[in-house]
Amino acid sequence: MYLNGDYVVKEIFKPRREINKIVKRGRPNDIRIGILFPLPYNAASSSLVLHLFYEYINELQDAIAYRFVYNIDNDEIESLDYNISLRDMDLILVSASFELDYLNIAHILNSLGLLPHQRRRTKPAIVVGGLAPTANPFPLSRIADAVVIGEVEEIINEVVYSAQEDVPLKALGNLKCVWIPHRESSVDKCVVGNLDQAFHPLKQVYSIDEEPVFGYGLRIELSRGCLYMCPFCLESHVAYPYRFRSYETVCRVIEKGLDYIPLAKRTIFYSLSFFSIPYADKLLDKLLKDGIQASIPSLRLEHLTKSRLEMIFSLGQKTLTMAPETFVTSYSCKIGKCGCIDDLVDIVTNAYSIGYNHVKLYLITGFPRLSIDEEIYALKLFLERLKNTVKKRKFIEISLNILIPKPWTPFQYLPPDYVLKSSDRIKMYKNLIKDYKFVSIDIMDPKWGFAQAVIALGNTELSSIIIQCVKENCTLSRFLNIVSSNIDKLRYVIEGWGREPPWIRIINMKFNPLYLEYRFDFLMKH
Ligand code: SF4
Repeated sequence: MYLNGDYVVKEIFKPRREINKIVKRGRPNDIRIGILFPLPYNAASSSLVLHLFYEYINELQDAIAYRFVYNIDNDEIESLDYNISLRDMDLILVSASFELDYLNIAHILNSLGLLPHQRRRTKPAIVVGGLAPTANPFPLSRIADAVVIGEVEEIINEVVYSAQEDVPLKALGNLKCVWIPHRESSVDKCVVGNLDQAFHPLKQVYSIDEEPVFGYGLRIELSRGCLYMCPFCLESHVAYPYRFRSYETVCRVIEKGLDYIPLAKRTIFYSLSFFSIPYADKLLDKLLKDGIQASIPSLRLEHLTKSRLEMIFSLGQKTLTMAPETFVTSYSCKIGKCGCIDDLVDIVTNAYSIGYNHVKLYLITGFPRLSIDEEIYALKLFLERLKNTVKKRKFIEISLNILIPKPWTPFQYLPPDYVLKSSDRIKMYKNLIKDYKFVSIDIMDPKWGFAQAVIALGNTELSSIIIQCVKENCTLSRFLNIVSSNIDKLRYVIEGWGREPPWIRIINMKFNPLYLEYRFDFLMKH
């Protein structure tokens, strides 16, 4: 929508028929906290963070939480709770798990005149958090007033009550784990030491009419971090160290939380490596006995025995998801994914005979020192072994990504340009797959992958590029054009950051960054 020549995102009040919606009688002096997810409603409501903010903040005295989601297709911000604008908030908490979300966030804030340089008032303060901002907040330098580094539960009260001040930014600047743009001092990441003591949302909100992305059910976070620290994996490095909730706590959450979900007796587990949790089998046994269904996240190869496959199937899961990343056995251990084709063939064969609808496999192409010929040879071996067994069309769904260098991972030393250089490889996958009817393939657009890497490894200059792009009605090709015409300011896009990427000096990730360098050297030499 254009108003006086400027583009303005439409804000609409679009309440849903929801279960567990909180109606809080506000008072004029209450702190108004906006929770902004730059995603459509059904994707946003799959995020546990949305439920956490909503329930937790509404339990605080003197504070009300207002949810806002973004309908990308209609370019509309939907207010879910009241007929109120983002502009009327005292503080806006923005959740940004992925780098590409920054484009939508900047677009929304720019069009409402809420970017830090546009605002004439000190409110609403814009506070962004999530995995990607924790790894590298520089690309948000001109978009956010403050960035939470790490796990927000540690400081959520202080963040909310900072909005009581005339100048929230002053209070935010004194908090631990908060990065303020252009400040050079280093910030320690916040880590919840004991997950049993961390707040877990129980009264999760659901629309009766729009099913969330992972279906209806109680979302339960079992663990954070991951033991395996695969060198391409942002989440395991940023969420380090590995921790899990106790069996007793999880059972308590299930017992209480399911009472609030009349639509389904089903749990949706969030864990990066489900069977690394010592009580995982016991928990599944209990659910089966209690007649509760479960959705289990992507699993590691070596964790999948036939009895576990049967158990997961009995709990109602019909698609089995694994992320072997490569079929090249000799390379797999280097990237934390030890496995061999024989094991994979056994798992797929078992899943097929048990009755799963699909097996979904995540693969990455473009690892250094791994040739495309080796990748294709190994994949062909795998498919040949299955072609006489699996008769169902598109039973195996391959999702192919190109290796994207991410901050705080050993591959952070590669330049974003590396993604485009690997893009030729995907043709070979397409050519191979078309001979196998039981396989389908979904391939990442290399340009999106490149844009993701440019933002992930970006600096303050990049933040200005994002702003420029949204002011010019940003599209992917517009963004890439602006990046290429500013390449002299963004040398890292082609050359990488060398041994001292900027985020290393401003974030304390609570592990020794030298490990990244040594592991990168190893991966590049062996
Ligand atoms: S097993 Fe998965 S979640 Fe864990 S480090 Fe590896 S890729 Fe990341």
